[in-house]
Amino acid sequence: MIVVPLGIASATPTAIRHLPSVALWREGSVFLFDCGENSQMCMLQAGLKRSKIDSIFITHFDVDHYSGLMGLISTLQLQRREKELNLIGPKGIKKFVEWNLNFSGVEINFDLNFIEVDEDIEEMRVLNTDDYYVEARPLKHKKFCLGYRFQEKDKPGKVDANKADQYGITEDEHFKSLKAGKNLTLDDGTVIESYEIVGHPRPGDSFAYVTDTEYCPNAVKLAVNTNILYHEATFGNQLADKAKETGHSTARDAARVATEAQTKLLVIGHFSARYTNLHLLLKEAREGFYPTWLAQELRPIFTDPSHERGVVEPKVDLIDLTKKKPHGGGGNYRDARSKGGRSTGSRHGGNRPGSKNFRSRKSKDSAYSGNRARYGSSNYEDRGDRYRKNDGGSYRNNNGGNRDYDNSDRNKRYDNSKLNNSITPRTGYDDFNRF
Ligand SMILES: [Zn+2]
Repeated sequence: MIVVPLGIASATPTAIRHLPSVALWREGSVFLFDCGENSQMCMLQAGLKRSKIDSIFITHFDVDHYSGLMGLISTLQLQRREKELNLIGPKGIKKFVEWNLNFSGVEINFDLNFIEVDEDIEEMRVLNTDDYYVEARPLKHKKFCLGYRFQEKDKPGKVDANKADQYGITEDEHFKSLKAGKNLTLDDGTVIESYEIVGHPRPGDSFAYVTDTEYCPNAVKLAVNTNILYHEATFGNQLADKAKETGHSTARDAARVATEAQTKLLVIGHFSARYTNLHLLLKEAREGFYPTWLAQELRPIFTDPSHERGVVEPKVDLIDLTKKKPHGGGGNYRDARSKGGRSTGSRHGGNRPGSKNFRSRKSKDSAYSGNRARYGSSNYEDRGDRYRKNDGGSYRNNNGGNRDYDNSDRNKRYDNSKLNNSITPRTGYDDFNRF
C-alpha cells in the first residue's frame, strides 16, 4: 500500500499547505481519509485517479476536513461514475450529502453507500472485505471525531515454485487450493500437504489515520503495530496548553502514541499555519520517537518499509539559473523542463529531464550527493543557504531553520565562487509514476 498525503494543513490552508486529506492506494483502489478543500486537485497532482476512489472516510465535521467532499462527488458524477462509492463518517454524513445534492438539484447516477458511526460506539468495523478491513474508534476532540485503521488481512504464504515444478503442479486451481491450506491429491495418488510447498502466511500491511485529537488510548489502540501511523501534530511542545484547549496534539503527543503503539513509522501532519519551520515539530517528535517523518504533500510513502530504501531520497530538479544558455535568455527553467519533455504533469514523469545542463550541474554539486540532505544537519544547512541566495526569503517557508545561520558565515558563502551556480528546486519529490 502507498500513503499519499494530499493536504497537511490544519484549519486554514496556507500558500503551500492544503486542507487535510490523505490518500491510501492499494492495488489500484484509492481510499481517501478526510476530504478537505482542494483534495481532488491534489489527487490529480499526485497522479491518483479520482475514478479509482473506493471509499471516503471522514473523521469529523470540522469544515476543513470535509469541505472538498461535495465537489469531489460532483466530479465523480460528471465523470459518469457507475461504481458504488462508500462514504463513511460520523452520524449525519448522509443527511449532509443528501441535503447538498437536493439543494443543488444534482442527481447521482452511482450508488452512495453510507456507513454512519454513532457516538456511543467503542469500536466499529466500518468496512470488511476478504482482503482488508477498516476499523473506526472515537478520538478525543472538541466534537465527535473518528480515527481509522486500515488493515490488510494476512496473505497466504508464497508457493515454492521449484517444488511445484518437481511435483508437476501447473493448474491455477491447484495453486489456489494449496494456498488456501488444502492438501492436494495428484492423479497418481500422491498427496501433497499444503505446508510442504506453501510458505508462512505474510502479515498484511496496516495504516492508521489519527486526527484531530488530544492524546487518547483509542489512538494507541488504532495504531498498535501499524506499518504507518499518520498522526496529527498541530502544535509544538511550547503550545501544549493551546493543544489541550483546542483538542489537538503536540508533536510530543504524536510520538507518545507511536511509542505506545509500537508503530513502525510515524508520519506527522495537520500542522498549524503558524509553523513555517516544520522541522521544529519533526525534532520534537523525534525526541520521543525516532522513526518519524514529516508528511509532505504528494510525497508517497510505502507501507512496506523495504520499498523506501531507508531514509527518503529527495528528488529535486536543480536548474542552473545564473548560467546563460545560448538560446535561453531568462527562461532557463522552462527550457530545461521542455527539453525533458515534461512541460506539463511533470510530477508523473519518471524520467529526469534529459538536459545535459541538469546532469552536469548535478554531478558538480557535491552538496547534493548525500541522500540524507533533508534531515542531515550539515547538508541541510548548506541547502538552506543556497536556497536563500536564490530566492530571498521564499524558501524560508519550506525549510525554515534559517535563523540558525550566522550572517557573516552566510556572506562568506555568498561570495564563495563555488556558489556562482545558483539553483532552484522544484517540488521535493518530483519523480513518481506509480499509479
Ligand atoms: Zn482539523
